[in-house]
Amino acid sequence: MEKIQMTTPLVEMDGDEMTRILWKMIKEELLYPFIDLKTEYYDLGLEYRDKTGDKVTVDSALATKKYGVAVKCATITPNKERVKEYNLKEMWKSPNATIRAILDGTVFRAPILVKGIEPYVRSWKKPITIARHAYGDVYKAVELSILESGVCELVYTSDLGEETRVPIHTFDGAGIVQGQHNTIQSIENFARCCFNYGLDTKQDVWFATKDTISKQYDHTFKDVFQEVFDTEYKEAFEKENITYFYTLIDDAVARVIKSEGGYIWACKNYDGDVMSDMVATAFGSLAMMTSVLVNPDGVYEYEAAHGTVQRHYYKHLKGEETSTNSVATIFAWSGALRKRGQLDKLNPLVAFADKLEQATIETIESGIMTKDLASITTLENVKEVNSETFIKEIRKRLEHSLNIAKA
Ligand code: NAP
Ligand code: MG
Repeated sequence: MEKIQMTTPLVEMDGDEMTRILWKMIKEELLYPFIDLKTEYYDLGLEYRDKTGDKVTVDSALATKKYGVAVKCATITPNKERVKEYNLKEMWKSPNATIRAILDGTVFRAPILVKGIEPYVRSWKKPITIARHAYGDVYKAVELSILESGVCELVYTSDLGEETRVPIHTFDGAGIVQGQHNTIQSIENFARCCFNYGLDTKQDVWFATKDTISKQYDHTFKDVFQEVFDTEYKEAFEKENITYFYTLIDDAVARVIKSEGGYIWACKNYDGDVMSDMVATAFGSLAMMTSVLVNPDGVYEYEAAHGTVQRHYYKHLKGEETSTNSVATIFAWSGALRKRGQLDKLNPLVAFADKLEQATIETIESGIMTKDLASITTLENVKEVNSETFIKEIRKRLEHSLNIAKA
């Protein structure tokens, strides 16, 4: 078979530990044989990040801005133990946080559904995509412990020197306070990312806050979303026959549980943090979640939602067999290749991405899966395989489907 051609390179961000091992296997077994793979390679493995003073992470994000599509392997976010283990010059920041700050994007996470891995919620038939606002609120809050009775106020001083004061509370004794903020620009960008992604994937967008209680803070989120929708997206949504739906956060939670799925649930920062873990667990497994960072200019960075699977890597280093699930990393590649194909109008590349995903799903549905899935599947006659065999089994089905398409 002639290899599928690419015109623009993907930005490739390599990573750490077990996912770095899977990364190489995926390229060798599932990509190189079929695609004339063009990438601009950035090694975000911890050793090279340390060597470059983390410049490589910044460079990879700038390249993503330039080309528009990236695919990222899971990476270590160093803590004290990692600084010792890798003898690091510094406790480098999370690469994901660095990239997110440069691209100013929103992260969309969606489960990969397969027969035999059933959601705990019986009504869920289609994926629920969580879009989490990644700026501000409690994550950038300042806090103060009040030790004795006294008055606490909010004070805003404008650049012109005008002062506004709002009483918070008159304390009779000890207590606590917290100051949160967000910016209109960040909320507008968040809204645009969500509406763009809705149009891109042809799904309804849901958004919810507690605007009845928080009459200025949360209400501003509600108003900004409505304003951005009405002025920039309403017509396009009508054309695609999709809707924007706003409700209160508690009502949203109840509706989500009773729904079939198949929509984007835009969440404020804290709601997204909590609800994405709930949705991921209820759908079955973190190793079956896709994750894509989208910025308001339409730049995309695809990755897996899980980490570097350190425990499996140490087994691998000892020469022991591992059964690590590569599905989310494969879908990061297929997502990036499909987007590249769509932007460059390369239909064979788009079709290849579809077939790669299909072959992956078929492998699991035929009963061949890694240990994490074997332990929760409802299928019978399951064959639990190691990391490498799983990828080779996908390759068999992929070759089959590519040959059939040729005939
Ligand atoms: P993790 O790598 O997601 O793994 C936690 C556990 O979940 C694993 O030990 C494994 O359970 C299970 N698991 C996760 N992915 C799996 C897969 N693909 N196949 C099979 N099982 C899987 O999280 P972590 O151990 O907390 O973090 C390890 C490193 O990853 C850390 O250095 C952290 O900084 C980094 N991290 C990176 C990202 C990212 O780059 N996006 C995200 C999160 C964490 P069993 O051990 O029970 O088999
Ligand atoms: Mg969390």
